[in-house]
Amino acid sequence: MTEKVIIIGGGPGGYVAAIRLNNMGFQTTLIEKNKVGGVCLNVGCIPTKALYKSAEVFNQANKLESYGIDFEGTVRPNADKIRERKNVVVNTLVSGIEKLLSSAGVEVIFGEARITGKNSVMVNGETLHFDRLIIATGSSSFIPPIKGVENEGVVTSTELLDFKEIPEELVIVGGGVIGMEFAGIFASFGTKVTVLEALPGILPGIDGEIVKRLKPLLKKKNIEVMTSVMVKEIVKDGDKLKVLMDGKKGSLEVSGDQVLISTGRRANVKNLGLEEVGIETGRTGIIVNGHFMTNIDGIYAIGDVNGKWLLAHAASAQGEYVAEHIAGEHPVIGKFVPGCVFVFPEIASVGYTEEQLKAENLEYHTSKFLLGANGKALSMGEGEGLVKVISDLNHKIIGVHIMGAHASDLIHEGLLACEKGMTADDMKSVIHAHPTLAEAFFESVMGLKGEAVHMVQPRRS
Ligand code: FAD
Repeated sequence: MTEKVIIIGGGPGGYVAAIRLNNMGFQTTLIEKNKVGGVCLNVGCIPTKALYKSAEVFNQANKLESYGIDFEGTVRPNADKIRERKNVVVNTLVSGIEKLLSSAGVEVIFGEARITGKNSVMVNGETLHFDRLIIATGSSSFIPPIKGVENEGVVTSTELLDFKEIPEELVIVGGGVIGMEFAGIFASFGTKVTVLEALPGILPGIDGEIVKRLKPLLKKKNIEVMTSVMVKEIVKDGDKLKVLMDGKKGSLEVSGDQVLISTGRRANVKNLGLEEVGIETGRTGIIVNGHFMTNIDGIYAIGDVNGKWLLAHAASAQGEYVAEHIAGEHPVIGKFVPGCVFVFPEIASVGYTEEQLKAENLEYHTSKFLLGANGKALSMGEGEGLVKVISDLNHKIIGVHIMGAHASDLIHEGLLACEKGMTADDMKSVIHAHPTLAEAFFESVMGLKGEAVHMVQPRRS
């Protein structure tokens, strides 16, 4: 008899584990309190990228002339239609996942699950028994204890996705990935955006040089970034909201029609019954071992709820890993997890940053290829940005950082190189198509050993 597996949470961690397990012959039950697809499909990755596309099209429409196209009318973003398009994209994907689950034979129960024992959960008043349990309950927006956050107009990313009109002025508290993505989207639509960040810089974890190059582009887009500021209070000021804060030189204030709170996310561990069976949690979520198993044998925790990456593809990879582990296989999971930031232009990165290498006192080489020298990028009118490659002293690729059009797609060649431990010499024999953005990656890698043809290299004597 195969083991009975219950999965709590139908996001990219939970639904992937469920489908994979059923495909391997298990009978799984997936319990979801809201909609399958989780945060990612419903209020995260997908809706934001649908809005990003609308913003990108609007940006392009505003520079038709630069492509030699005359246009005498005006282009305007229409909040209702943009929202509707986003909803269509989301609903299409959610119903696709519903179909995948049903054709794999996964039993889906809608309701809030609570663990009641080492082999049981309760949902909709009914007790279900399991041999193995996968907790994939994700994370929620963290709302810091700022006075006035309860004011109307102070929103999280979930509410802002359903914007009824494009705000004239938007204040974003938190300059991490989510905050900066919303900044780029709304600034494209014409909103005056102010980003407030408590740390000395935005986008922590992203290569410092990339962030430095992004800054003037943000300014050009009417995005003001204020760093090292601590927000103290948000007060109503007529139709506006006033954000009061402490800066390095004293008190400051900015105002907006709406205030987005994007100050990080916290694992969904409350009301789950973890204490019922003694499942240990730490600062960032449920504590797991290398197999994503909790301290209780047979109970796993994957995705945002274990706080390791807070990325959809990491949650899915863990879902597949755990499914195979339950099946008694010997799965492997990649060491490198790429990250993308959908600002204008896109940023994508994998592996070490220079800052990390310096902190660890490790020696390295870097090479950069500017997109302004790439034929495809220039033809596209997207010459802004670069591909930066970092290697160890043996020219083994250990980090790739890209800013530019389609960075989120381009990063995968860098990911493969990092994951497979490729060197500049391994890459040398790989012929890249012309004209493509991928040539910029190739040239950057070749630059590690001074062998790039399309950039000025020091001449060997
Ligand atoms: P979730 O997707 O959070 O799913 C957890 C599910 O569990 C939810 O559906 C929830 O309803 C359910 N649940 C919780 N508790 C219970 C319970 N007790 N009983 C039953 N069900 C329960 N990541 C990327 O990789 N790329 C992006 O571009 C990206 N953009 C983002 C944009 C925004 C605005 C946000 C907020 C996030 C974004 N993320 C992105 C992060 C990504 O959404 C998450 O990393 C991913 O959704 C985590 O997947 P998960 O399966 O761990 O959890």
